[in-house]
Amino acid sequence: MAMSKEDLKYFENLINDKKNELLKEDPLRKRGISGQDSVEDHTPYSFHMADQGTDNMEREKKYFFATREGKLLDYLERALERIKDGTYGHCRSCGELIHLERLKAVPHATLCIQCKSKQEKI
Ligand SMILES: [Zn+2]
Repeated sequence: MAMSKEDLKYFENLINDKKNELLKEDPLRKRGISGQDSVEDHTPYSFHMADQGTDNMEREKKYFFATREGKLLDYLERALERIKDGTYGHCRSCGELIHLERLKAVPHATLCIQCKSKQEKI
């Protein structure tokens, strides 16, 4: 059993759309973390003014990947990799195909609903 090329294409598009959405709603810019007006977060930014230079990007990236959006982006990237290597849509626990309806709701899912609910009980 494998997913059809059409299905894979469909999910590739779906994942790319979600990715673009996430990147568009960049939480860093919205919250003003990269600027100096992070008053509402009470982040002591002036504290580290000295190293705001070149490693600023790295720190922003780290911050981004620590957020829910960043983690999701990471999951979506991995899902795209699975589409490329042909393992996408298979439960990584039992190897069965994950239900398409589940994938449509959660395109980066790596467990079928049965294994997922088993895992949640542990
Ligand atoms: Zn499973």
